[in-house]
Amino acid sequence: MLSSLGLKGRGLGRPRSAISSEFSESKGAGYAESVLFLYTERAMSCLFCKIVEGAIPSTAIYQDDLCYAFADIHPQAPVHVLIAPREHIVSLADGEEADRALFGHLLWVAARIARDKDLAAGYRVVVNTGEDGGQTVDHLHFHLLGGRSLTWPPG
Ligand code: AMP
Ligand code: ZN
Repeated sequence: MLSSLGLKGRGLGRPRSAISSEFSESKGAGYAESVLFLYTERAMSCLFCKIVEGAIPSTAIYQDDLCYAFADIHPQAPVHVLIAPREHIVSLADGEEADRALFGHLLWVAARIARDKDLAAGYRVVVNTGEDGGQTVDHLHFHLLGGRSLTWPPG
């Protein structure tokens, strides 16, 4: 279905479980189509999807098949990098069983960038999640902060 809509290879990834086969069977095929449409609309209007695709400029720090890391536009520390999956996943809370390896990979990438940036004195990886978590961009991203002494607890 995705390839027939020309989505494959555009970095939008797979639709979330909302359009799984069980769902479409219980709600009807038309329902699955409309959920896919909404998903696609959301991903196409997503700031970080556009950054990942290069439609909005950013300062690249690292990239691979699964993720794209770039400099935060309002850095809160001398090193402030955002690591986002290429796939549109709203937040950590939206993760599925199939995302276990991807989530681990994002953490591994954070540690790798920290090593590249010589953050041997320490750093912090933050994943703001949902409204109470202070998430402002609804596309999963890990913040890597370092280069200064960070206070605790956060606000
Ligand atoms: P959060 O509040 O955890 O969702 O983090 C969103 C982050 O995205 C903030 O730290 C913003 O400064 C950052 N941000 C917003 N727009 C851009 C952009 N165009 N390029 C880079 N970083 C951005
Ligand atoms: Zn997105």
